[in-house]
Amino acid sequence: MGRPCTICSHPHREAINQALREGYTFRDVAGHYAVSKTALHRHWQAHLAAESASPPVSQRPGSGTARRALFDYIEGWYNPHRRHSALGYLSPAEYEETWQPHDTVQDAVSAGMVSAADG
Ligand SMILES: [Zn+2]
Repeated sequence: MGRPCTICSHPHREAINQALREGYTFRDVAGHYAVSKTALHRHWQAHLAAESASPPVSQRPGSGTARRALFDYIEGWYNPHRRHSALGYLSPAEYEETWQPHDTVQDAVSAGMVSAADG
């Protein structure tokens, strides 16, 4: 059934498998071994994913999913909430709202937003 897997019959099959397990993207591996991303994807799903405990490449850090999760965390929680001594104990979001283009370090110090010792 179906066409034979071009990756499984590839002379560098083990190196390709290793690269995929280590988290190289399909694009990287496809470019390096001159095979198609489609073939790699099919091979990953049919022949590699089952034997591997790690999630598919598309769910690893560096992928869109992980980047989105990190972005959501930073923009959704970290920047609105986390306070920084260097920002006068304001969150990055609060600091951004109070920041004016004409502000100087001296203005910030006299407004008590930062102490002279911080600078
Ligand atoms: Zn295969």
